[in-house]
This record gives sequence, structure tokens and C-alpha cells, in this order.
Amino acid sequence: MSKYKLGVLYGDGIGPEIVKSSVEVLKAATEKAANGTEFELKELPMGWEGIQKYNDPVPEITKKGLEETNGWLMAPHDSAAYPDEHRVAKRNPSGELRHHFDLYSNVRPSRALPGTTSLVGNADLVIFRENTEGFLSDRNMYKGTGEYMVTPNVALVTGVFTREATERIAHEAFKLAMTRRKKVTIVHKANVIKFAFELFRDVCYEVGKKYYPEVEVNDFHIDAMTAHLVRRAEAFDVVVTENLFGDILSDLAGELVGSLGLSPSLNTNGTQAMAQAAHGSAPDIAGQNVANPTSMLLSTVMLLQWLAAHHNDNNLNEIAKVMEEAVLGTIAEGPTTRDLGGSASTTEFTEAVVKRINQG
Ligand code: ATP
Repeated sequence: MSKYKLGVLYGDGIGPEIVKSSVEVLKAATEKAANGTEFELKELPMGWEGIQKYNDPVPEITKKGLEETNGWLMAPHDSAAYPDEHRVAKRNPSGELRHHFDLYSNVRPSRALPGTTSLVGNADLVIFRENTEGFLSDRNMYKGTGEYMVTPNVALVTGVFTREATERIAHEAFKLAMTRRKKVTIVHKANVIKFAFELFRDVCYEVGKKYYPEVEVNDFHIDAMTAHLVRRAEAFDVVVTENLFGDILSDLAGELVGSLGLSPSLNTNGTQAMAQAAHGSAPDIAGQNVANPTSMLLSTVMLLQWLAAHHNDNNLNEIAKVMEEAVLGTIAEGPTTRDLGGSASTTEFTEAVVKRINQG
């Protein structure tokens, strides 16, 4: 019997709704697989709950608690609405946890699923977003946010690009490409930001050439890449890019294949992993029980698959498979949530997934 400790962070906006859905489906899939795997779930405060209880969106108790876990389910947060002492002076909760745990690799798959309307055919691509530096200035600092107001009308932002961080995200991207269609696309802006992006681009090419010579590599400027994604997303397999570009490009890819509500992601550092929907807290639909929980459900599947590989435990793959088949089956046959043109609520969709697991 294997036991894993998972953190559960409910967060803000639609966070509690979609994380609750994942916990319910995870429990049902674990029971169904009945292979002796146990999960100890540890709820920890994050977001408004952290502010209210500890005056910190990511309190020390949460960081300490997460250190003892194998991985965790991370909800979105509505950090744009926090009081200035948290919003301006600190990293947002995702940034804080990525920085604190050095979760350097952010894997964001986008694929067209049966039952959804993809604007880009049968696209199936994975974006690797470097998660610790680049243009997200607050990730680059030991203390401070990496932004400076020189005068009330002049703001400076710190961007950082290092060989070390680029090498490790490149390895992650190429390793996955070796298991897929063996193609990597490097996305940058080296025609304008020369030192930083020539370094990023050239280090990615070096890693590919030296360690993964079978992989076909090409590169595009970020602006051209947005056009290529819209026009011919099916041509792309694995994409590797810096932090901010990855954030933007993965939202575009997610929406192109059907809905941001379908977009999962996993943040990893080699020893722990954080499952996180690629979208935000969607304050416009929060508390209405209409969010599509698929993004968080499929992020949880990715977490299980990562833990399976990391702990060499195929039982976790079995649970992941039960979960994934039930989620994809429900998307294909309904009920369908509002973002995909249906009228099912978050709880109705979740109940249908659980029912499918129990009857499967
Ligand atoms: P962040 O900067 O934190 O990523 P954001 O401001 O980019 O957040 P989101 O919260 O991702 O924005 O929301 C963008 C749009 O997508 C909103 O209209 C929101 O309602 C919709 N959306 C996001 N997630 C879902 C979901 N799970 N189900 C349905 N709609 C969603």
C-alpha cells in the first residue's frame, strides 16, 4: 500500500468550486481503482482565506504544510483585488509558491477534445513556460517586486534570463518531445531584445543538439507565433518559452482548442509538483456554480501521472486513467458546461463524472 500526502488550496473566485470538484473526483477514482493507494489530503489557507486568518495570502503555515506534501492542488487567486499591502508589495500566491519551491517548469498542454469546438482542428500541443525568471519581474528578486517607479510617470521593470534556468526548462521540453512527435519550437523576441533572447534561443538549441539530436527544432518570434498558432496550431508539438510569453501563449492556445476552462497545467521542481488550472479565478462567474472544472480535474490527472513517474508507482497511473477517461467521456457525451455551449452547472458536471466512474 502506498500513501501520498497532497495539499489542497481552495483559493479565490471559482477556486473553491473547481478544487472541490477535483477532490470529489479524485476520491471516487481512488475508490474505483482500489489498488491500495491512499491520499492524505491537507487543506491549507491561500488567498483571501490566508489574508483573513494570517494577514498573508500565502502564510507560513501553508508553506510549511506544503513542504511535507508530495504535491498539491492549487486553486486560482483573485490577487488583483487584494489590499495594496498584499497586491503591490508581494508576489501573487502562484508566483510566491513557484518562487519559494523553485517550481521552474510549468507544463501547459492544449489539445482539441471530442465534444468541444476547436477553432484550430485537431491541435495537440504542449507549452513549456519557464517559471522562475524572464519578464515576470517579481520572480527575479530575493526581496522586492522587481519594479521601480523612478518618477510618478516612469516605471522600470527587471527582466532576467540565465543559462541555468533556460537549460533546465529546455531539458523538460525536449524530454517530453521525445515521447511525442519529436518537435520543439522555441519562442522568443531576439530580433529586438537581443542579449536576453539570443541567450534563451541559443541555449535551447544547444540543449537540443547535444542531448536530443532526434528532435526537430525551429524558432519563432512571439508576435509571429501568435499568428502561427491561430493559423496552423496543428503544426506544433512542444513549445518552449519564457515566463510571460508562456502565460499569454497558453491562454491563447487554451481558448483556441475550445475553452480556457479546459486548460490544465503542472508546475514542477524535480521533487514536488503543483497542479493548477492555467486560467485565473474568473471573478465574473465566481460563486455561480457555472465554472468548468475540467482544467483543475485534468491538472490533477497530470499531478498523478507525474507522481507515478517520480515514485515509480503505476497504481497512480491507474487512478489517473480512471479520472481522465471519466472527464473526457463526460465532455464528449455531456452534460456540458456553459463555456462549451451547454447549461450544466459545475456540480452537475462533477456528479456526471463521478457517476461515470462508479458505473465504469
Ligand atoms: P489571471 O490573470 O489570474 O490568469 P485573468 O484575468 O487572465 O486571470 P481569467 O480568470 O482566467 O482571467 O478569466 C478569463 C475569462 O475566462 C473570463 O471570462 C472567465 O469567466 C473565463 N474562464 C476562466 N476560467 C474558466 C472556467 N474554469 N470555466 C469557465 N470560464 C472560465
